[in-house]
Amino acid sequence: MKIRENYSLKALNTFGLDAKARYFCTLHKLSGIRTLTAWQQEHPDLPLLFLGGGSNMLFVNDYPGLVVHMRLETLEVLGQDADYHYVRAGAGNNWHEFVRWTIDQGFAGLENLSLIPGTVGAAPMQNIGAYGVELKDHVYEVQALDWRTAELRDFSVDECCFAYRDSYFKSVEPDRWLIIAVVFRLPRHPQWKTDYAGVQEQLQDKVLDARMISDAIINIRQTKLPDPAQIGNAGSFFKNPMIPVVQWENLKVQFPTMPGWPQQHEVKLSAGWLIDQCGWKGKREGDAGTYAKHALVLVNHGNATGAEVWNFAQGVIASVQDKFGITLEPEPRVL
Ligand SMILES: Cc1cc2nc3c(=O)[nH]c(=O)nc-3n(C[C@H](O)[C@H](O)[C@H](O)COP(=O)(O)OP(=O)(O)OC[C@H]3O[C@@H](n4cnc5c(N)ncnc54)[C@H](O)[C@@H]3O)c2cc1C
Repeated sequence: MKIRENYSLKALNTFGLDAKARYFCTLHKLSGIRTLTAWQQEHPDLPLLFLGGGSNMLFVNDYPGLVVHMRLETLEVLGQDADYHYVRAGAGNNWHEFVRWTIDQGFAGLENLSLIPGTVGAAPMQNIGAYGVELKDHVYEVQALDWRTAELRDFSVDECCFAYRDSYFKSVEPDRWLIIAVVFRLPRHPQWKTDYAGVQEQLQDKVLDARMISDAIINIRQTKLPDPAQIGNAGSFFKNPMIPVVQWENLKVQFPTMPGWPQQHEVKLSAGWLIDQCGWKGKREGDAGTYAKHALVLVNHGNATGAEVWNFAQGVIASVQDKFGITLEPEPRVL
């Protein structure tokens, strides 16, 4: 495995930011992990970062350590029982191609997560979700490696501590575990989730199958979200805030049209709505801005630097804080 120096990450992050990695390598085989361990022993003070599709990262600065690009691309059908098909996907597989592969095998479950950019290995990091489905609904186990000791461990769904855009790997032990594969449990008798805005309209009264739902989701996403190949972005830039019920009741008096979805002990708000109300939709400062059709998506119109996008994000955070008293939290990893 070759370790390169001063490597440009521009083509490897969906914001299209021209950050450089001081050191860079691509991991095609698990045996390459030995090189990483040896490198760490030689450079104990430098950090290490795993990179998938770079679709959930904002590089504000050059990366001072080693960036490891994950390309482990195995795919296997493991078998089935009365209720589920089991498949194992290597971390470096493209997520959307993997979803379509499961559909080609006649398996359902992941169709609502179609067209999410990135890799299989990064999907558990923030428990990706869309259109009423989250990754955790279909994971059987996550196979990960403690890259410092080469200890291999299978994490059950409970051990992954999945939550809204969160997991054990993201919050409890960040950067310790290299996810090498995910085993999925896909239902043999699926229950379709089509009650999300826009999905019903696309499907109308058709007899449903996974491919049809996947196609509908792809259509909706292509009309709503910017394609990173055309305009740099990382999807939703902020998490939807969760606030206590009392705060929600007070805000509802001041802002009667504010949307909110009661969860167990909290209420989930729409970050997009809050940002829109502060007048940010379609705004632009230099080449950093919000997408004209969706205030929640920050974009790089061409030559913005990571610092410019991050400054723009700070402006959005400050005005939502001023108007609503709510602190927005970025969804991508800011480096
Ligand atoms: C247009 C667009 C739409 C999007 N829509 C959605 C959506 O609907 N729902 C949603 O949840 N997200 C969405 N996202 C965000 C993003 O696609 C997901 O978070 C995706 O899972 C990131 O995958 P990645 O491979 O690009 O991860 P990266 O950005 O490369 O990495 C993200 C994090 O995971 C870590 N990581 C990556 N691979 C591994 C590994 N193998 N082991 C350990 N750590 C690893 C990285 O170190 C980093 O901390 C969208 C992004 C874009 C650009």
